[in-house]
Amino acid sequence: MGMLTIGAFAKASRLSPKALRLYDELDLLRPARVDPETGYRYYAAEQLERARLVAWLRRLGMPLARIRKVCALDGPTAAREIRAYWAQVEAETTTRRDLAAFLVDHLSHTSTSTSQEDTAMLELRYASLSDTGLVRPANQDTAYAGTRLLAVADGFGTGGALAGSAAVEALRFLDSETLPAGSVLNLLEDAVQGATQAVRDVAATDEEVGTTLTAMLWTGSQLALVHIGDSRAYVLRDGALFRITHDHTVVQSMIDEGRLTPEEAATHPQRALLLKALTGAESVPPPDLRLQDAHAGDRFLLCSDGLSSVLTEEDIRRTLSSVPTPEEAVRALVAAANEAGGPDNVSCVVADVVEAACAAAQPLS
Ligand code: MG
Repeated sequence: MGMLTIGAFAKASRLSPKALRLYDELDLLRPARVDPETGYRYYAAEQLERARLVAWLRRLGMPLARIRKVCALDGPTAAREIRAYWAQVEAETTTRRDLAAFLVDHLSHTSTSTSQEDTAMLELRYASLSDTGLVRPANQDTAYAGTRLLAVADGFGTGGALAGSAAVEALRFLDSETLPAGSVLNLLEDAVQGATQAVRDVAATDEEVGTTLTAMLWTGSQLALVHIGDSRAYVLRDGALFRITHDHTVVQSMIDEGRLTPEEAATHPQRALLLKALTGAESVPPPDLRLQDAHAGDRFLLCSDGLSSVLTEEDIRRTLSSVPTPEEAVRALVAAANEAGGPDNVSCVVADVVEAACAAAQPLS
């Protein structure tokens, strides 16, 4: 078999001579022969297949170190490695997309903040309720509602209850924090790191122990959302219910890929299997962060899957629409989950956005 010069090999493999020299130095694609006199590199024709694979993987954006690993594998194992790489890219893209959405929301509202003096001051009226349900021996959920912070956590594994309450406890300081304009993102990010560490401390490197976390932080005109796992946040606005969160579950990703309908997902045997959660694992994927606009009259709901897995969104909408106060709403929702068999712990936080009492107290004359 004849040898190809680096120029001919570059042309045939669609890699530049410069790239070929780099891959030689990195031990990714060694020439078959290097002339000891001239230093010219020569490649064998049978190296073309590997060179083309390298070129394709580069086009995929795979880092060189990982390409070296893939090239050393047999076909099926290499295929698995590429699939794993792509799943990771998609997860990272999702996180960046959410961050971009958060920033777009955040910056879109920065310029209007000066005119907020003209608008009514808003505040939250809230209530929370967590119940063991009718089947589980203990309650591993945590629900919390305060002036600024609303949170639901659904712990799992041995000590899951502690993991959930530790995550919420780590966010509690936000409830009394004054929120300087523009720093909500940083504040939340730090708080989430605190919650992640708190869960890790409780779970003690056990990846089977952890918690979901869905929390909203009130900024005075918006709610900043932190979300990981399959607890949910909804808003009831003008009689319609909108889901704000995206479940980090295996079945939700199958729905996203068009491999499962939402109806099939509702009864799927693995519907509780989480893709993301806060656990004892050394590195956990970052939660979603998002900013949600709030208007007077909005009713927000945070709930664990003990509610959303037994009630349809129409049931939830109807119940939320039919009771006047957050206290009655959380009681009605928990009661409805238990009437439906109460198979899981159930937690609800309901918060109404209302005009602040001081601003609303105008003389009636
Ligand atoms: Mg649950």
